[in-house]
Amino acid sequence: MTTVSDAPTVTVIPGDGIGPEVVAATLRMVDAAGADIVWEEAQAGSRVFLQGIPSGVPAETIESIERTRTVLKGPLATPIGYGEKSANVTLRKLFETFANIRPIREIPGVPTPFTGRGIDLVVVRENVEDLYAGIEHMQTPDVAQCLKLISRFGCQRVSRTALELARAEGRHKVVAATKANIMKFTEGMLQREFLAAAEDYPDLETGHIIVDNCAHQLVIAPEQFDVIVTTNMNGDILSDLTSGLVGGLGFAPSANIGTSVAMFEAVHGSAPQLEGLDVANPTAIALAAVMMLRHLEQFEPAERMEQAIFATLEAGIHTADVRVGEPVGTTEFTDAVIERMGTKSSTPSRPHRAMRIPVITRDDARTAPDSRVAVGVDVFIESADDPDKVAQQLIRLAEGTPYTLKMISNRGTAVWPRAGGNTECIDHFRCRFVLFDQVPVSQEDLLDLLQRIGGVYRWMHVEKLETIDDDPGFTRAQGEN
Ligand code: NAP
Repeated sequence: MTTVSDAPTVTVIPGDGIGPEVVAATLRMVDAAGADIVWEEAQAGSRVFLQGIPSGVPAETIESIERTRTVLKGPLATPIGYGEKSANVTLRKLFETFANIRPIREIPGVPTPFTGRGIDLVVVRENVEDLYAGIEHMQTPDVAQCLKLISRFGCQRVSRTALELARAEGRHKVVAATKANIMKFTEGMLQREFLAAAEDYPDLETGHIIVDNCAHQLVIAPEQFDVIVTTNMNGDILSDLTSGLVGGLGFAPSANIGTSVAMFEAVHGSAPQLEGLDVANPTAIALAAVMMLRHLEQFEPAERMEQAIFATLEAGIHTADVRVGEPVGTTEFTDAVIERMGTKSSTPSRPHRAMRIPVITRDDARTAPDSRVAVGVDVFIESADDPDKVAQQLIRLAEGTPYTLKMISNRGTAVWPRAGGNTECIDHFRCRFVLFDQVPVSQEDLLDLLQRIGGVYRWMHVEKLETIDDDPGFTRAQGEN
């Protein structure tokens, strides 16, 4: 008789460098904890790049993840420089795992300068937008640009994920960490959307902190934080910092959460210099597997495995990255954890309940402004001329069009009309043309302006300026009046 198992199938990707060793160790621990899982192995990363697949993720792996919707992933090495994209970022983006959850907590038996402070916090990082959208262009041979794209949709879902996580884990305080003081539209969007979403969670203490102060506070008084939600780049940096507070990358797990797929991994990379030496610390990915078990609502095996890991470390058994006492290898550490299944450590596991993943549709996040009015255009040009000469040329070229040159800036600082100071101009100018008296402007008018400018200067980039409900949808340059 054939029996059909109810056990969930999980796609397991061994990964590169130390990946296969720490993943194998973790699978042994998960099985010993009594979890009910069917593993399905798939490949991604270096070996796949070498097969000539530029994404680093073959179709069979994508098909497996679409089916299982849960992934335990070893680290994937990323080629540096031109060419291939990161297979990690590709996987996160392909499956819209929009929130990256990175918990850290003081670990028994792992001494740090912060031992005894009771650190127990989570960084929730937006995972698919921001500078990591990877939209980069060489504007000139010597000027590079990376677009920082932030959507209301992305901000709403990561904010609500952080708030839901706080409730599921019995946490009390959630702050958004942003650079909204400088980037008012992009970083400011997360601040505004988080504070609006927080109104639906009156049981939680919520607020905003500027991200640089957040980094400072994390080192001065990390115990004040509970959940921090932040944009992709900020979260990448802050979460490496927080892993350093509790003993380093060997102890930092993470979960990539989307509405249909969840992917669990260590924060660390493939550490190629440790490959094959049986010295890597499997704790980070093992704790990621504990998060995975909770996601699959296998709460008992999750707690058994977490407690066995804590009890092993508390007994002074650890790998070489804990720089005290005599280290053991990956295999010996794993054996010691397996021996301690069922043992309690002095650090109790947090109470966990199933977490609600917020489902927000793009329509939910779409605003319907009453008015959107074209008020001008920014044309980016390449020129080695000084700003006054560029301005004289552009004023002449715009004669007879509805556009008037208002300002020229160089890397964001107004250089015409002169605002003082001594900005060093490089050959990349933003030239702001405005439409006075709100004359209706057609597509042809704009194309005519670009045609005229293009006859003299190489333009590489154009941004339309508009007001949305009478508020400017663009920022002023530094020094622009
Ligand atoms: P890394 O692999 O995280 O290694 C940095 C250092 O951290 C290692 O040299 C090692 O320190 C220590 N370390 C990391 N994991 C450890 C573990 N489990 N046990 C013991 N020590 C550990 O960072 P990297 O060298 O910058 O990146 C290597 C490759 O991984 C790159 O191709 C990168 O793109 C990729 N990467 C992948 C992911 C991912 O898959 N999610 C994340 C980050 C990086 P010692 O030298 O002191 O032993």
